[in-house]
Amino acid sequence: MNLFTYARATSAADAASKFQPAAKFLGGGTNLVDLMRETIERPTALVDVTGLSSAIAEGPQGGLLIGAAARNTKVAEDTLVRTRYPALSRAIVSGASAQIRNMATVGGNLLQRTRCTYFYDDEGSSCNKRQPGQGCDAIDGFNRNHAVLGASSSCVAVHPSDMCVALAAFDAVVHIQRDGQELKIPFGDVHRLPGDRPDLDTTLHPADLIVAVELPPLSFSARSTYRKVRDRASYAFALVSVAAALDIKDGKIADVRLALGGVAHKPWRASKAEAMLRGGPATEDAFRAAAAAELADAEPLSHNGFKIELARRAIVAVLVELAGVEA
Ligand code: SF4
Repeated sequence: MNLFTYARATSAADAASKFQPAAKFLGGGTNLVDLMRETIERPTALVDVTGLSSAIAEGPQGGLLIGAAARNTKVAEDTLVRTRYPALSRAIVSGASAQIRNMATVGGNLLQRTRCTYFYDDEGSSCNKRQPGQGCDAIDGFNRNHAVLGASSSCVAVHPSDMCVALAAFDAVVHIQRDGQELKIPFGDVHRLPGDRPDLDTTLHPADLIVAVELPPLSFSARSTYRKVRDRASYAFALVSVAAALDIKDGKIADVRLALGGVAHKPWRASKAEAMLRGGPATEDAFRAAAAAELADAEPLSHNGFKIELARRAIVAVLVELAGVEA
């Protein structure tokens, strides 16, 4: 049995004062509690931060500011989110089950850990993320759900979040409290590729507290969507997912945002495809070329080569839908 203490924080400062080495901040607990049951996580203390801000409000320069304790359901159903950032609402609704979305918080969603089955099997499998230096049973094992981009010889896991893919596409900014100060971290800098330290999912420090997520204003964010390809219609993680926003002027792509899920250790911003598309024609051929460029460096494992073609097709399908062109 792993004993731990529990305390409820009344403010971010209170949460920091209650934090201690080997503690964890507790949001909805939809992943952390599972990990504790499996003894993958063994915190000595839980600091419950669900009482902190869950407000969804206009951001300082437009955009939106979402309190980290906001439940996923609340964010997905919020009128401002649905009308201004529909890709975010759709991404959240496509994730998990209604019960889990009712519990899970925005801050916790960012910090959820991979669902690699070897990671959860601490009695029978080797896993560098769980136990650095132990090896990775997924590389030569059953790796159908694993990464095709940005993986390393230490870890081929994928990030499980849908919400984070949309946040990556929208260039969200994560507000954290560190050492009594509030810092703003670009979303793309929060999660890591595995490299030789797959035990580290993010660049955050253990005592960092996520207090809010900011969605900057984006003139074409309303023309955005999220598509998730998975093995069954609900309660399944993405094989591949795409979040995209598209701005077309005079038949040309004035701007585009594109991010992929289910393919890498972090939400994958498709920067190569975006660069190819900007200023070009909004045609299916252009979308195909951009998708091929983005996936050019993809490396399949023994069971997941299908993800590369699936990602290409999903990108094209989403852009065709947003552009309203004939497929
Ligand atoms: Fe562990 Fe990563 Fe290998 Fe999965 S892919 S077994 S999480 S090291």
